[in-house]
Amino acid sequence: MTRRKFIAGNWKMNGSVGQVDAFGRALVEAAPSLDCDLAVCVPFVYVERLARALESTHVAAGAQDLSSEVDPGAFTGEINGSMLAECGARYVVVGHSERREMFGETDDIVVAKAEAAIAAGLTPIVCIGESLEQREADETENVLARQIGALTRGCERRTLEAMVLAYEPIWAIGTGRSATPEQAQSVHAFVRSQIANWDATIADSLPILYGGSVKPDNASALFAGADVDGALVGGASLKADSFVDIARAVI
Ligand code: PGA
Repeated sequence: MTRRKFIAGNWKMNGSVGQVDAFGRALVEAAPSLDCDLAVCVPFVYVERLARALESTHVAAGAQDLSSEVDPGAFTGEINGSMLAECGARYVVVGHSERREMFGETDDIVVAKAEAAIAAGLTPIVCIGESLEQREADETENVLARQIGALTRGCERRTLEAMVLAYEPIWAIGTGRSATPEQAQSVHAFVRSQIANWDATIADSLPILYGGSVKPDNASALFAGADVDGALVGGASLKADSFVDIARAVI
């Protein structure tokens, strides 16, 4: 099956109203010439503004986290999926390594958040990946198998059918040291095979993005991997120019 390439930006805790507006204007101009699916996941407070700015394009707005609680209630500071959907979000990043490491998100929380996203009609971009220590100890496949196992055991079938996976080796995030195209392809093939053990049809259609220091100059080599279906882009998504250049690297 041919999977359409998907480029998603992750602004993390960056941006301003001015940056959202400038990004929106640039994408309105560039989007008609970009032949891939696109999304930009921004801080909660900018989601609605970005969604409006991108209304006339095929570029979706998204968020970077959501509550695992589906129903409204006494959860001070939390934001649920329905609120995000109402503000125009179509995607939400779930289980980014920064949330797993700094905010204690476990595999079970990641599963609950992926489910909550689907319940609200959002597409979760679920992140998995190993640390440098784990890679050096030859633990990459075990770590990924554990993270994927949690998803296949814990998620409903409709969630696995609809989700996007992002393989983000932690050592490559924000370091300028991307995985090589060969490393990325070999891990992506492993990830797909793990899903295929569970359900071959879902494995075949599942978009698996690579994330970690993706830039305009390494994007096309990474995208050449047969199992690399696009990218989750952090730093290089903050400027419309470099985000658009990465999207143009899709052949
Ligand atoms: P980076 O971040 O592109 O800045 O390495 C990727 C991510 O954390 O999603």
